[in-house]
Amino acid sequence: MNDEQQIIEETDVNKTQIVIIGGGYAGVITALRLAGKDRGKRADVTLINAVDTFTQRIRLHQLATDQPLRQYPIPRLLGKRNVNFVQGWVTDISLDQHTVQVNLPDGAARTVPYDKLVYALGSIPATVNIPGVAEHTYSVGSREEAAALRQRLQQVEPGSRVVVVGGGLTGIETVTEIAEAYPQLQVHLVTAGAVGEKLSRHGRNYLMKVFEMLRIGVYEQTRVQAVEDGALVTADGQRIAFDVAVWGGSFVAAPLARAVGLPVNARGQILVDPYLHAISHPDVYVAGDAAAFVTQPGAPIRMACATAMPMGTQVGDNLLAVLNDQPQQRFHFNYFLQCISLGRDRGLVQFVRPDDTALERTLTGSTGALVKELICQFTVRSMQLERMLPGTYTWPGKGKIPVDAPHNQPVSEPVQHI
Ligand SMILES: Cc1cc2nc3c(=O)[nH]c(=O)nc-3n(C[C@H](O)[C@H](O)[C@H](O)COP(=O)(O)OP(=O)(O)OC[C@H]3O[C@@H](n4cnc5c(N)ncnc54)[C@H](O)[C@@H]3O)c2cc1C
Repeated sequence: MNDEQQIIEETDVNKTQIVIIGGGYAGVITALRLAGKDRGKRADVTLINAVDTFTQRIRLHQLATDQPLRQYPIPRLLGKRNVNFVQGWVTDISLDQHTVQVNLPDGAARTVPYDKLVYALGSIPATVNIPGVAEHTYSVGSREEAAALRQRLQQVEPGSRVVVVGGGLTGIETVTEIAEAYPQLQVHLVTAGAVGEKLSRHGRNYLMKVFEMLRIGVYEQTRVQAVEDGALVTADGQRIAFDVAVWGGSFVAAPLARAVGLPVNARGQILVDPYLHAISHPDVYVAGDAAAFVTQPGAPIRMACATAMPMGTQVGDNLLAVLNDQPQQRFHFNYFLQCISLGRDRGLVQFVRPDDTALERTLTGSTGALVKELICQFTVRSMQLERMLPGTYTWPGKGKIPVDAPHNQPVSEPVQHI
């Protein structure tokens, strides 16, 4: 079969064709909830993902520091749940014709028709706006990027300088992991604000203590304006030399949404209504890092596995509601805690209010590390549990909104483009 050939899928016209693109935290749990509860009665469910192994993105800083990660083949995660898994790269979506274009690993192109589309393609590091970032920095944003960083860290001489840019959770987890795994390197964190500025006083004090123990140098209030070969150039004209630079700054949504004309915010996230429909296309549902709510669903939603899985599950529930002519439910979410790994030996569990603002209460040290590890395991375990007992996955804040009017009722909130 050559590149030009396309296969139009054989479809059962009596069933709703539901296609999920993106087999990360959001996409896999959508497929499990939907197929597990529907049991092949009303829908044909197809899940398309670039690779056939589930990427535990929340552990990619561990992969970068050469820790073996357990592999979870996606077909095995789905088990016998009537999900048609397709490995391939989604290159296009025709919103008018309701089709998805996929490039298969053997080079063939495939056209997959849908009645309902679930867009769950996740995010990528925001590297485009700063000159030199794409050329001169590594990242932990994808498995391939983390593997490239792993290789580089293994090659550098003792005493080499590693700089991690970004004082948020990804930057903190990455810099501590590298400093712990490679004590012979000089490791620094560079951030435009303060490190862990959203943590409580106690949480931040503990974090700074761990940085000291791991001998991590910190540049705060230091905005990187450009990256050159071997040096970060800051807004105030400083040059910070490096042998290895890691971009741990912010993330943007995968670019396809913008390219196909879905309404997106500045980070490329698709604008969604409270039911997780794209505001312009009610047949397109969005979950995970790719989604941006036009009205806040109980808390400001940040890109996180902790929010992606609840969103994916809500999409599954709402599709089931549509299939069964039941009312859909608005997504509602409350935060409970933030779990931050600080290498393998220490962790910081920051208790937060429902709106994600920090309380003074924390768990630290080996207890914090244990809780963080259990939470990481819980993500995959809860998928496995959902496969065995469909309907079990739940989250804080779920259902605080009463069951709403029928699904075809227009959204009443004003739509604000972010
Ligand atoms: C190092 C690191 C640590 C993190 N730690 C935490 C944490 O502790 N807690 C937390 O809550 N969050 C954490 N996050 C964030 C979390 O990983 C993401 O928010 C989460 O992965 C989002 O889930 P998702 O399903 O939206 O996207 P993803 O998990 O990224 O899944 C998207 C999937 O779509 C596939 N895909 C993308 N484009 C295409 C295409 N065109 N065709 C086919 N397939 C495609 C990708 O291969 C991927 O499998 C961390 C992130 C990183 C990078």
